[in-house]
Amino acid sequence: MKKFFLLMLLPAAALLAAGCGSTAAPESEREYVIVVHGGAGEMGDQADDPDIAGRYYAALDTALNIGREVLDGGGDGTEAVRAVIRYFESNPLFNAGVGATISAEGYFELDAAIMEGRDLSAGAVAGVRHVKHPIDAAYAVKTASPHVMLSGTGADRFAQEQGLETVEDNSYFATPKTMKWVKEFQAKSKKNGTVGCVVLDSEGNLTAGTSTGGMFGKKWGRIGDAPVIGAGTYADNEGVAVSCTGHGEYFIRHSVAFNLNARCKFLGESIEDAAHHIIFNELNREEGNGGLIAVDRHGNIAMPFNCSGMYRGYLYKEKGSGRIVEAYGISDRMIEKQ
Ligand code: ASP
Repeated sequence: MKKFFLLMLLPAAALLAAGCGSTAAPESEREYVIVVHGGAGEMGDQADDPDIAGRYYAALDTALNIGREVLDGGGDGTEAVRAVIRYFESNPLFNAGVGATISAEGYFELDAAIMEGRDLSAGAVAGVRHVKHPIDAAYAVKTASPHVMLSGTGADRFAQEQGLETVEDNSYFATPKTMKWVKEFQAKSKKNGTVGCVVLDSEGNLTAGTSTGGMFGKKWGRIGDAPVIGAGTYADNEGVAVSCTGHGEYFIRHSVAFNLNARCKFLGESIEDAAHHIIFNELNREEGNGGLIAVDRHGNIAMPFNCSGMYRGYLYKEKGSGRIVEAYGISDRMIEKQ
């Protein structure tokens, strides 16, 4: 039987560290590491509502274990990232694929990116309206085009030419919940739920992926940080893999993803210190509300957020023992799966 216990039982200092989302370990201890997020923002007391929290915990657990199955089955980090994000894109709880938020014109315009740290290859799509899985379109741009980012109708056409699954009717991405939410919150709130996944695989390769419907009510073909390589998504085997979520305009201005990579790679800062500095000192709750997930080549993790919550989780496999360690959370508390 599955048993959970709250890290609340740990001493305050340990809890604080878990809240900042940091776990450190020497390289040799972890065969692979998977970190996911399902968006950050002001989440009220969602974490205290067993119904809501339970649904998100289950989704985070499923996502992490989809990644684990890919890696245990011999797949690499990139395959794991794609599989995890495809799952999130099919889950209406999140602001990606089905369940995405809506633009000011009433369309679902989706952004996604994927990047591999082994050769800095990257692909991204922005503002696609008909691709069922934007993360696959981003991957196709990376592998089957000479470009890094395609947008709008061109990106949709490219995806179709690549034989990817497309949907004729843009309202495919709508759910009753999205439409109810649009009515209720018109222009005064944003829906949380951008998704991301970063992986360190057993070959030492880092991969990062992000997918989102963007900010609620976005206008004029607005493109957020998620598909901008170096802003919302970045991976470099000599540094980190990172996926961001939050107010994209600020994440672009601060080149958050590359910024983190550069601090770790060139300044030698730990992933925890660097991520904490960027999220709390360069960004803040008012100007750059959000967070990030990241993993470095040693398997160290950072998951800071400067808002009230971020759906997030990590799973890693210990070398030797093969023990799987998994935890997830919404607010400061992390829940370890036993
Ligand atoms: N970063 C996304 C964007 O600005 C939104 C989010 O993560 O909530 O498009």
